[in-house]
Amino acid sequence: MSDLAAFAREKGVKYFMISYTDLFGGQRAKLVPAQAIAGMVQDGAGFAGFATWLDLTPAHADMLAMPDPETVIQLPWKPDVAWVAANLVMDGEEVAQAPRNVLRKLVSEAADKGLRVKTGIEAEFFLLTPEGDAISDAADTAEKPCYDQQAVMRRYEVIAEICDYMLALGWGPYQNDHEDANGQFEMNWDFDDALVTADRHSFFKFMVKSVAENHGFRATFMPKPIEGLTGNGCHAHISVWDNAGTTNAFADDSRDLGLSDKGRAFLGGIMKHATAMAAITNPTVNSYKRINAPRTVSGATWAPNTVTWTGNNRTHMVRVPGPGRFELRLPDGAANPYLLQAVIIATGLSGLATDADPGPRHDIDMYAEGHKITDAPRLPLNMLDAIRAFDEDTELKAMLGGDFAQAFITLKRREWDRFVSHFSAWERANTLDI
Ligand code: ADP
Ligand code: MG
Ligand code: MG
Ligand code: MG
Ligand code: MG
Repeated sequence: MSDLAAFAREKGVKYFMISYTDLFGGQRAKLVPAQAIAGMVQDGAGFAGFATWLDLTPAHADMLAMPDPETVIQLPWKPDVAWVAANLVMDGEEVAQAPRNVLRKLVSEAADKGLRVKTGIEAEFFLLTPEGDAISDAADTAEKPCYDQQAVMRRYEVIAEICDYMLALGWGPYQNDHEDANGQFEMNWDFDDALVTADRHSFFKFMVKSVAENHGFRATFMPKPIEGLTGNGCHAHISVWDNAGTTNAFADDSRDLGLSDKGRAFLGGIMKHATAMAAITNPTVNSYKRINAPRTVSGATWAPNTVTWTGNNRTHMVRVPGPGRFELRLPDGAANPYLLQAVIIATGLSGLATDADPGPRHDIDMYAEGHKITDAPRLPLNMLDAIRAFDEDTELKAMLGGDFAQAFITLKRREWDRFVSHFSAWERANTLDI
């Protein structure tokens, strides 16, 4: 759909949400009446950049959000309104650190090399009470709640409503389940081009939160919202295709695990940059309670600690579940949908450019025998370590763009400073009487 005014007339849309995502993953929007949309498509919707997380000052010029009409979605739960993703422009130039611009630049770099990165993500979430401090279903208490048939049916109204919407939107949803933590769910839809997946990932989060609210619940994608239970991962499945999108360049039946030399080199880039990449795939203080975590009530965290890869074995950072693709299990629910895809493409392209070696496959149970691996880096133990690793990775910073890297590091360091200067209940409980 290229003409948003015509879209509004045809569908009875009264308002457009012109939406962009900032560096902390916040989704920001203006509600624009359909009568004004043609002008906004031409000139953009104005925002004060400083008021959101983009590392801009109050003195910066107006930021214009230019809607991308290809992304428009009429809200299935509120058909008066349509959501449209926007690209940020200031003084006639794209805002370099804006996440969707960072991703678009990498998508076009890949296209210049004849490559199309396709990904599918698994955005796990919890359904909590509106206060956010307890799971919404008091009967959901099993020690191993994964695939719990009774519990998933107690939330049928929420899950089926969201899945029906994805069916109507043509995303190709194919399964929904109760996940490994009490109160946790996962809904899967088909993989697609990285930018399409990023837009759908953004919209999915918005949709899940909105539908949950309408049912009196609160949905969270926070990496570890309940201490001791399995956290919210956001695994990414990755393959790379030719520009036509018809030949999978990762598929090669003659190679180990059906992963081509190109696939191995792309993976090599991810392995090489993994500790730095964590700043983006695991971007919050809370992220580090999911990776490197102690065993959960269910028996496993399902999250990695170390930079290792393997075949069909979920205890590693990267799993090759079948030929022609691999699964990156590092990202969590706090990952910015656009930066997640961008960092996958950036590290992968750098791996392809240098024919990077992913190192040996480790076919062991990492949770039981991880201590035997001495030749693989440990993932960062906290957000500060991850930001430092990212800051030291000059190649990755250059791939993502210097302006982006600087803005991201500046804001994340300030966030860390606010976190450590916060006086916590733990300090009082443990050090008051020292
Ligand atoms: P898991 O076994 O890790 O739980 P899921 O079925 O939950 O896997 O999710 C798998 C995701 O991987 C889906 O989004 C699916 O469309 C995607 N996927 C499948 N094949 C490919 C591929 N060749 N390239 C990229 N993504 C893929
Ligand atoms: Mg104003
Ligand atoms: Mg899954
Ligand atoms: Mg899962
Ligand atoms: Mg998975």
